[in-house]
Formats: sequence, structure tokens, C-alpha cells
Amino acid sequence: MADLTVLEHPLAGAVLTRLRDRTTGPAEYRALARRLGLLLVAEATRDLEVRTSTVETPLEAFEGTRLVRGIVAIPVLRAGLGLLEAVVDLYPDAVVGYLGMERDEITHLPRDYYAKLPPMAGRRALVVDPMLATGGSGSAAVRYVREAGADDITFMCVVAAPEGLERMRSDHPDVPIVAAALDRELNDRAYILPGLGYFGDRLYGTL
Ligand code: URA
Repeated sequence: MADLTVLEHPLAGAVLTRLRDRTTGPAEYRALARRLGLLLVAEATRDLEVRTSTVETPLEAFEGTRLVRGIVAIPVLRAGLGLLEAVVDLYPDAVVGYLGMERDEITHLPRDYYAKLPPMAGRRALVVDPMLATGGSGSAAVRYVREAGADDITFMCVVAAPEGLERMRSDHPDVPIVAAALDRELNDRAYILPGLGYFGDRLYGTL
């Protein structure tokens, strides 16, 4: 079963509270999303494989480590862009793929309208979608990335709803999820409660 890790860090809690606050405007929102993103990315890559690597300090040899796997960041457009810089800040060599998902007006199912993914074999794929609400687009994004060749996928979000979590657990039981919070429920318009509103709109000021 996919495991959920919820960030337990006082800074994450405080930053998320500011993101939830309805009076926080887009400029502050973007800065806060990036800061929270740094904590999420660190957690989502906690188990990255390392190899020993020996260096010479000015005084003696030191047996340390180096990373083995690279990172592919895949922000789900548009809201995922709010966390992308955090991935690249921590992993400057990360390659970036983009995935645009939208809800089909007729079938109401998520479908991809844009995809540009780099080679993913041998890399940790970080699928970044800030709000795991129904899980429809998150699950479709993970499926897309898997079918494109990723074999090591982690899903990263800011807020998860129990409904979305169940969906991911059922569709992708092997994909770990890292979130800053697990909220109470969805309302009848599929907004997360208490949530923070529509992440993409708050990020870009398109309210
Ligand atoms: N997407 C959002 O941005 N917010 C929600 O509450 C649900 C989906």
C-alpha cells in the first residue's frame, strides 16, 4: 500500500498556515510555496541511493557519499510550477518534464493536454501536484509517467484529502506520497476542507 508521509516540522506547519490564510497575496504565496517545497523535496528524496565517495579534506582522507540517481521533476500544470523551483534549488542537475492535465468536459475524466517528458530510466521521478483532492489528476499523472518509463516514482503535494489518498493507494500502491498536511474531506465541489482554496489561482493571482 502506498505510504503517506506528512511533514512533521514546525517551519512546514507555520508556512502552510500562511498559505491557508485567505489574506496572503500572490507574491508572498509564491515565496511561501517555494519554501515549503524545499522541505517537501528534502523529505521526498530522503531515501535516495548513495555510493561511498572518498575525498581529501585539507587534513586527511574522508569516506563520504555521493548521489547515484538523478532527479526528474514533473510538475503537473499549472499549480505544480509553484513547487518546481524548490526541486531545482536542491537538485540543480534535475531534469524537468511537464505534464498538463485537465478535466474532459464530457467524460469528466482527467486527460493530458500537454506532455514533454525527458528520459526517466535510472532517475527518481518526482510528480509534483500541490492539491491531492479526488486523486483523479494525480493518479492519471503517475500513470502517464510510469508508462513513459519511470520505475521509481514519488508523488509530492502540499495538501492531501482522504479521498485522493485512497484513490492513489488503490491505483498506485507502490508510489510513496509526501504531503505537508492530510486534511479532513472534500466538499461537494471537490475542494479540500479546510484546505487553502484553489492553489493555482492563489499562486498566480487569477482569482
Ligand atoms: N485543487 C485546488 O487547488 N484546491 C482544492 O481544494 C482542490 C483542488
